[in-house]
Amino acid sequence: RGKRAFIAGVADDNGYGWAIAKSLAAAGAEILVGTWVPALNIFESSLRRGKFDESRILPDGSLMEITKVYPLDAVYDNPDDVPEDVKANKRYSGSSKWTVQEVAESVKQDFGSIDILVHSLANGPEVSKPLLETSRNGYLAAISASSYSFVSLLKHFIPIMNPGGASISLTYIASERIIPGYGGGMSSAKAALESDTLVLAFEAGRKHRIRVNTISAGPLRSRAAKAIGFIDMMIDYSLENAPLQKELTAEEVGNTAAFLASPLASAITGAVVYVDNGLNAMGVGV
Ligand code: NAD
Repeated sequence: RGKRAFIAGVADDNGYGWAIAKSLAAAGAEILVGTWVPALNIFESSLRRGKFDESRILPDGSLMEITKVYPLDAVYDNPDDVPEDVKANKRYSGSSKWTVQEVAESVKQDFGSIDILVHSLANGPEVSKPLLETSRNGYLAAISASSYSFVSLLKHFIPIMNPGGASISLTYIASERIIPGYGGGMSSAKAALESDTLVLAFEAGRKHRIRVNTISAGPLRSRAAKAIGFIDMMIDYSLENAPLQKELTAEEVGNTAAFLASPLASAITGAVVYVDNGLNAMGVGV
């Protein structure tokens, strides 16, 4: 049987989530995605209207199939957590069962089990503010959407993950080195995500034989990255200073995710894997 993957954080064809979906599909996996509720309508209608068809082409010429798109808001674990104003919001009231627990239940009902869980989402409302100017709410929101969201997804999906399965998240070097401009507590959120990768690798490995790894990716001009406001500078910096002086493609991150999710990586867990043209290894810019 082919493997089944659930990829949280796909809302267009520009980000890492989409590229990971493609690499997993090319390797024969069935693809389910979780799309942020406010982005759901435009993503589904664009898919239907063929707007992504060119980006859906796999190496063998066929088109990637997304078996099902689930609405998801990973900052809410169950309906009791959802504030009234969000419930009443038109974009949210138009969909249902989009909290983490409900999505896991729906996937269980629809498909029974999965093999691969991918977390490719982050959000920090104050990302453009320096940490010294970040509010408590902004900081906690960054951690909730970007770090706890992974704990929650793994917690709720692990009961339906087949032993031998794998989970993968996406992190950024701002967790361990100073990257001015990656503010709002997003650097803190990535540090938490990486630390949690270790502890979750232990707990999920011992209890369920599930591997937990994270990919520290170099800069990509995704929708989320453009919102931060310094992505072009980061891409130029990498081109100038990294050991490999080429633009990083989302496909390179997708292929690493496919490797980490596969039996080829059966002894790799609790790892931060750099996919950044080697930039992390530099001590000075040259
Ligand atoms: P992206 O915009 O393609 O992906 C982010 C996704 O998160 C979007 O689809 C957005 O709708 C979704 N999202 C936000 N809040 C959500 C919520 N509460 N519930 C569910 N979904 C939510 O951008 P990307 O850059 O590909 O980001 C994917 C991951 O890669 C993130 O973890 C990001 O931090 C990481 N990353 C990105 C870069 C980069 O340069 N782009 C570098 C390193 C790591």
